Amino acid sequence: MASPTLTAILKRILKQPTAPFHEYFVRAEIETLLRDCANVTFKRDKFGNVLATYKNGSRKSTPTWVLAAHMDHPAWVRKPGTDRKADQWDFLGGVAEGVVNDGLKRGLRKPHKNGEFATWNFPVTIKDGRLDAAACDDLIGCASIIAVFYELARLNLEATVHAVFTRAEEVGWLGAWHLGQNWPFNGNTVFLSLECSRPVNGADFGEGPVIRVGDRLSVFDAESVSVLVRTAAEQGIRVQRCLLDRGACEATALQALGKRTAGISIPLGNYHNTTDNNKLGAEYVMLDDVKGMIKLITALVATKHAGIGERSIRERVTMRMQEYAPHLAAGNAVRI
Ligand SMILES: [Zn+2]
Repeated sequence: MASPTLTAILKRILKQPTAPFHEYFVRAEIETLLRDCANVTFKRDKFGNVLATYKNGSRKSTPTWVLAAHMDHPAWVRKPGTDRKADQWDFLGGVAEGVVNDGLKRGLRKPHKNGEFATWNFPVTIKDGRLDAAACDDLIGCASIIAVFYELARLNLEATVHAVFTRAEEVGWLGAWHLGQNWPFNGNTVFLSLECSRPVNGADFGEGPVIRVGDRLSVFDAESVSVLVRTAAEQGIRVQRCLLDRGACEATALQALGKRTAGISIPLGNYHNTTDNNKLGAEYVMLDDVKGMIKLITALVATKHAGIGERSIRERVTMRMQEYAPHLAAGNAVRI
């Protein structure tokens, strides 16, 4: 079967409605796409996260990357224990009350016909290199992982890479926390969070994916960040390297559980459906940034790194130590 195009993958996933704890439509679409992709196996863990692996041959990058994206987005859910008639809803996820109320006033809340949750009613549109949707965060991350898997399969690349599609990130990384506590992967792995975030500290739209040195709460693994930067440079992929500290991502949760982590972010407009003047709006991203991220991850998986970052600093200092040994000896010989 011909592999789906990036646009097709994006549309299929981003048009699925989702909310914290009600990720089942996104998950079903992800699983359908994974099922059709060569060299990919997947399963669900006890929390309902999807764990997937692309494995072709025995070749592995060092470290082995665990790509991660979450399947939920801030939205309305029916208050547990109440029925349809009561019409009682909880809004889950970090959005200011005034913005939520603006959406209500404008009639943008769209209950799903199953009656269990409601999303903001924005269509998925792709125009002039820009994609608008109700929930770019983090369905863009989910779609990008699928696109990477299809690209690896198309190239028939020998590689091993894992992926996790998590639940309930927006209420405090619950799916990621379960994953970290029940870590299913062996060996030298790095959890690589793929997110959409507000571009700050010099990051901008259309300038490439952002290699995230940290978020609002943590700084990430220096060696892993360095491998990302170096791979981008080697492959001529335009990236930005920034601290995106206006939000926190799942890498922080995994790091708190002792895992090595890194993150890549796509600059996101109208983060959490909040426009610059605090109204409710569709989120948007630039497609070139998404394509850059897919390219970077494909290169990351396809090349062997062997701990480049750490070793290069070690090597550099070792060389300097040898180079300056006579100066050190000369200085030490002086008696005053
Ligand atoms: Zn979010």
